Amino acid sequence: ATPTALLVGTGRGAQLGILIKGPEVLESTRRVDTVVLDKTGTVTTGKMELDGVLLASGAQPTDRAAVLRRAGALEHASEHPIARAIARGAEAELGALPSVSGFRNEQGLGVRGVVDGVEVLVGRVTLLEAEGLRFPEDLRRDKAEAEAQGRTAVVVGWEGEVRGVLTVADRLKPSSADAVRRLRALGLEPVLLTGDNRDVARRIAAEVGIERVVAEVLPQDKLDAVRALQAEGRVVAMVGDGVNDAAALATADLGLAMGTGTDAAIEASDLTLVRGDLLGAVDAIRLSRATLRTIK
Ligand code: ADP
Ligand code: MG
Repeated sequence: ATPTALLVGTGRGAQLGILIKGPEVLESTRRVDTVVLDKTGTVTTGKMELDGVLLASGAQPTDRAAVLRRAGALEHASEHPIARAIARGAEAELGALPSVSGFRNEQGLGVRGVVDGVEVLVGRVTLLEAEGLRFPEDLRRDKAEAEAQGRTAVVVGWEGEVRGVLTVADRLKPSSADAVRRLRALGLEPVLLTGDNRDVARRIAAEVGIERVVAEVLPQDKLDAVRALQAEGRVVAMVGDGVNDAAALATADLGLAMGTGTDAAIEASDLTLVRGDLLGAVDAIRLSRATLRTIK
């Protein structure tokens, strides 16, 4: 029979804004010693804003509009926080965007589809380079500079060439640094895990007080990152929000989804943090420890 204390703990969780899949979940929380945190949408708000359009030297004013128009049209079809920022920014500047055919989402890499009769790619450099698009040197340098300043940059290209770089800025959730401090006080080691660029990831990690960073990972490799930590003998909790986090959330000893996140993340997790901030993870771990003390 399920101990009454676990049920009480589950009820208390609901009061704290923590939805628990089953009473037994609290049990597995006890031995957790490592907390893997997804960056975008978990440590940061994920409410990004488009703040720059970089073009190669010699570009015409019409090239800026073309980059925004085509990238915006494609990203309109994606739910990714970067995509939403780009689509909103493009619409604000240009009004209605053209339609897209053959849209494809390359999970953790970007998007592609046909706009204005040409195949357009938006996303990580690796995605565009794999398709053989040339990346002008000056534009590559400007991108690196934006990333060194903590911006997330994605590239836009078509017909054999990278045509522009779009930069978006994200912000920390106000409680993230406090939550990381409290997780440490509970004896847990935080690890930042992200598909984003290494410089951006390190900067965010430094701002919230995380030392261990795993960056530039593809969605399927997020799962491997969790497994690698488990192979070190760690008991791993993972907190995430995205479709790209779902497999890692399911593999972690304890999966915690942001209530503000995607259905895929919520379904893959043991716990949902309704308020969508990291202090909920602190509450969840403290609650399970308190609940289990009552049972012992
Ligand atoms: P995180 O792990 O921080 O939540 P993701 O794994 O979702 O980040 O994305 C990793 C990277 O892939 C992004 O930083 C971006 O460069 C690229 N990317 C993913 N989806 C898109 C998209 N729809 N448009 C542009 N770039 C994208
Ligand atoms: Mg995320």
